[in-house]
Amino acid sequence: MANAEILSIGTELLLGEVLDTNSKFFATELAKLGIDCYYRVTVGDNKDRIKASLKQAFDRSDIILTSGGLGPTADDLTTECVAEFLNLPMVMDAEVLKEIEKLFAERNLSMPETNKKQAMRPRGAGVLPNPSGTAPGILWIVPTEVLASAGVVDPQRKRAILTFPGVPSELVNMWNQSGAAFIADNFLTGAIFSIELKHYGIGESALAEKYSALLDGNSPTVAPYAGQGECRLRVAAKAATMEEARALVMPVAQEIRRESGWLCYGQDDDTLESVVGQLLIQHNLTLSVAESCTGGLVSKRLTDIGGSSAYIKLNAVTYANEAKLKLLGVSEGLLDKHGAVSDECARAMAEGIARLSGTEIGLSITGIAGPTGGTPDKPVGTVYLGLFSNGQLATKRLNLGTKLNRQEIRFRTSSAALNMVRLHLLSRNFVVQ
Ligand code: AMP
Ligand code: MG
Repeated sequence: MANAEILSIGTELLLGEVLDTNSKFFATELAKLGIDCYYRVTVGDNKDRIKASLKQAFDRSDIILTSGGLGPTADDLTTECVAEFLNLPMVMDAEVLKEIEKLFAERNLSMPETNKKQAMRPRGAGVLPNPSGTAPGILWIVPTEVLASAGVVDPQRKRAILTFPGVPSELVNMWNQSGAAFIADNFLTGAIFSIELKHYGIGESALAEKYSALLDGNSPTVAPYAGQGECRLRVAAKAATMEEARALVMPVAQEIRRESGWLCYGQDDDTLESVVGQLLIQHNLTLSVAESCTGGLVSKRLTDIGGSSAYIKLNAVTYANEAKLKLLGVSEGLLDKHGAVSDECARAMAEGIARLSGTEIGLSITGIAGPTGGTPDKPVGTVYLGLFSNGQLATKRLNLGTKLNRQEIRFRTSSAALNMVRLHLLSRNFVVQ
């Protein structure tokens, strides 16, 4: 089975100025294809070190994915390093040059001389088209004799190199349009089908325990992943055809969904916010949110979903007591007596925002995100959620502890709030877990 190596090129990555999201993308995509990624290497814009990294990658890996260094400037070195390492001359690709010239002409710009460099490639290398930028990459099964002349270990083994620009949107487009299929065609026999079942409200170890019998199987394989307060179970199978792989996965995925019940909120691209949106549409209901400690994060997540104007009308970030008072009608007496981070305040906020917005459902969030603040009985990480619907009110207290940082507390709170709405919409009552 072929394995892959990811080589991220760019001094900005080593300086910590740019987060290497391209490697994360490649790693996720390779896993989806069922290709093992054994190494991820980051190297700066330095010829010797890039060539040394290429040597290492060619020696130990079958598929090399590089990101960065394809631009027109002097610090963009990837293509010439590939050529030098493989002992190949750089040649001008007239077709590619025409494409780049056309791009500049369309934008009414004259093409700087330096951009010609982007039409150069090691002799014989295939082109990885870039539909959204100027720099195409290389996509190439490197011939055995080229590998041998470069002194690559075991040159008989099939090797591929794919070079991508650093700009994440261009890289993703190029991968989706050409890269993934190229690797599948050249390195995969058969097909892989997988489903991710997304869970909320159960920890990774509890989930693993619940499905321990399935985790031992290998057709399909079932593996748990955790992150950001959620857990996923990935069910995957490999077979001669996609249909066969799917037939292995589906019964197990269905069994897990049945067994997990409300703990499983969706699959693959579903998010808590998209599922809440679907349920609101299904029930023909509208929702409004009054947020304090999450500062609009719940509103952002809800309105990230296209078409959310069908069920979101007016959300408010009522941060100060005064805003809770003026906008939501929370009484001064209540705030004096119980404080803003309280069950009582969450109730009043939820009801207040539903009345203000004229929505059927009102959701409220008030808590202490830290890092400072809190009291012994309401430490950092204490959050109250309120839900108003059908004239009824429910609340939930979260104790997120003091180990999480401010952003984590805010994100987990936003998920818990969305989940509270989801469970309410599922049961149409106030069975809130
Ligand atoms: P380059 O193709 O090297 O000229 O990179 C263009 C831009 O893409 C850089 O200025 C970075 O902002 C971004 N970039 C480069 N490498 C990465 C990476 N591995 N992950 C995310 N962004 C990157
Ligand atoms: Mg660069």
